[in-house]
Amino acid sequence: MDSCLICAIIAGEIPGDFVLQEEHVVAFRDINPKAPVHVLVVPRVHVENVAELAATSPQILAAMATAAQRIADSETGGQFRWIFNTGENAGQTVFHVHGHVIGGGVLSWDPA
Ligand code: AMP
Ligand code: ZN
Repeated sequence: MDSCLICAIIAGEIPGDFVLQEEHVVAFRDINPKAPVHVLVVPRVHVENVAELAATSPQILAAMATAAQRIADSETGGQFRWIFNTGENAGQTVFHVHGHVIGGGVLSWDPA
């Protein structure tokens, strides 16, 4: 799917600041960070949202969760918020599922 921003980053067509690249999961820094640590954890497979991924590839969603924890372990002392915006009205702008790993410092309840 060549019109997808995340597929283009995974393919190396658009630069990404990668923090992790695995068989099924990659992670790269958000270009517009909302916190000291703001990393997007994504599956290589193009799936629109988290529920669709859970239904079709639950093992990949599990791999994303453990990847998110490892990133937090190395960057935020293991504490983080994991956000999946689902749908335009919830703030989703890129329709390839991505979990925002947000952490660093003390976060208030102000999800962006
Ligand atoms: P969402 O609004 O939940 O769909 O999240 C999309 C995220 O992608 C936003 O937080 C953007 O800042 C981020 N973003 C957009 N373009 C890039 C890019 N080229 N590299 C990294 N992150 C990006
Ligand atoms: Zn995609």
